Amino acid sequence: MAYKTVNPYTNELVKAYPDATAAEIETAIATGDQLYHQWRDEPVASRAATLHKIAALLRENKDELARIATVDMGKLYTESQGEVELCAIIADYYADHGAELLQPTPISSRNTGDAEILHQATGVLMMVEPWNFPYYQIMRVLAPNFMVGNPMILKHASNTPGSAAAFEKAVQDAGAPAGSLTNLFASYDQVSQIIADPRVQGVALTGSKRGGQSVAEVAGKNLKKNSMELGGSDAFVVLSDADLDKAVDLAWRVRIYNAGQVCTSDKRFIVADNLYDEFLKKLKASFEKLVPGDPMDPKTTIAPMNSQRAKEKLQGQIDKAVAGGAKVYYGNQPIDLPGQFIQPTILTDIVPDNPEFYDEMFGPVAQVFKVSSDEEAIQLANNSELGLGGIVVSNDAQHGRTVAEKIETGMVFVNSFLVSLPELPFGGVKGSGYGREMSQLGLTAFTNE
Ligand code: NAP
Repeated sequence: MAYKTVNPYTNELVKAYPDATAAEIETAIATGDQLYHQWRDEPVASRAATLHKIAALLRENKDELARIATVDMGKLYTESQGEVELCAIIADYYADHGAELLQPTPISSRNTGDAEILHQATGVLMMVEPWNFPYYQIMRVLAPNFMVGNPMILKHASNTPGSAAAFEKAVQDAGAPAGSLTNLFASYDQVSQIIADPRVQGVALTGSKRGGQSVAEVAGKNLKKNSMELGGSDAFVVLSDADLDKAVDLAWRVRIYNAGQVCTSDKRFIVADNLYDEFLKKLKASFEKLVPGDPMDPKTTIAPMNSQRAKEKLQGQIDKAVAGGAKVYYGNQPIDLPGQFIQPTILTDIVPDNPEFYDEMFGPVAQVFKVSSDEEAIQLANNSELGLGGIVVSNDAQHGRTVAEKIETGMVFVNSFLVSLPELPFGGVKGSGYGREMSQLGLTAFTNE
């Protein structure tokens, strides 16, 4: 049984789940394929009411769903509640706008008669999702494709099976037809087999470079459309005219949210030299105030990491960075609690030949860099193999925007927390992957145009 909930705060095995069988896989594909053909004969708008119902049920069961996610992967209970609400917002958005956004697009042509682009469903999709936002990651794919009429099979992370089962149940309880979303506790080989099946038309993966490369290889071999939402080591650029207190207030929240395990959580803080020393002092003061503890307890402000494996990986990266010349400005001390905690840590003096310079540190570790001009900040921000998000802080929004536009990344915000909303496209460039989820782009990611 590869799928298990091990509470990362208590380290207790909560529940193990049986592996998917060959019969379950066949049923999931066959039911999805049947539904695809049924949906082709139904208007897009007819699915909106069910999607609204899914949103309503998520809201109604928010506390219980939040508890399940927190027990699965350790995030603060309040953050889990926020995640459930965000899922409901996404579902409502596509229910309200999906049909309109999928209207045929007229083409004006002088050389032919009336022409238009239709945005039609293509068939069953496979989605492979990570543990860090165990509901939101599913909803990013489910809501648009439910409206389009592409039934979905879910392979969730092996450490968040409770959330996967709870989400599938919410979809079923809302009255969605069988096959709309089928959760399978599938192995990697079974995922490959599903992708290869001629009834399956695409795969959306969110996860690591390693996972993305493997799944994209299988998709490529079978000529299946795919989208890859991978990691990030995004820049948080503090320009010389920034309000320091505002910058630090954004910085610590960005880095600590979800125990730092967010693809778009900025990991590299690139600070103008006139603000650098004070920035470090204030960031340290913010980190010092954080209280580790039970993620269900409202007094806790820093959650454990999602698993022992994740904690060990991050600790190994910190050790490697330090052995390579990085300095620990704050943190990197053990936390005397049984859970998988990493103390929020600030590293400085990381140079490009440090073995960790290009790696994503997926946890509460801030790397802080000093620069002496906007050009140097942009160059350092772009000296990355990844490009997912980013934040620029400046007292002059236009100045911030000018710098932001020069950063090679998917999504960049000026003077704002990086927010994820259904109307905004989500995705990256370079090693952060390709394709976009959410917005109209996410709606047509797997359509026949
Ligand atoms: P991961 O190991 O790639 O796992 C993600 C999902 O892929 C899991 O369901 C995993 O299953 C599955 N998987 C991995 N290899 C596979 C294979 N060969 N065949 C089929 N399925 C496979 O990712 P992670 O390290 O847990 O997640 C964190 C990473 O995700 C970070 O790099 C983070 O930045 C990135 N992320 C990106 C976004 C985005 O939107 N761009 C959002 C969140 C996270 P198992 O659990 O069974 O291994």
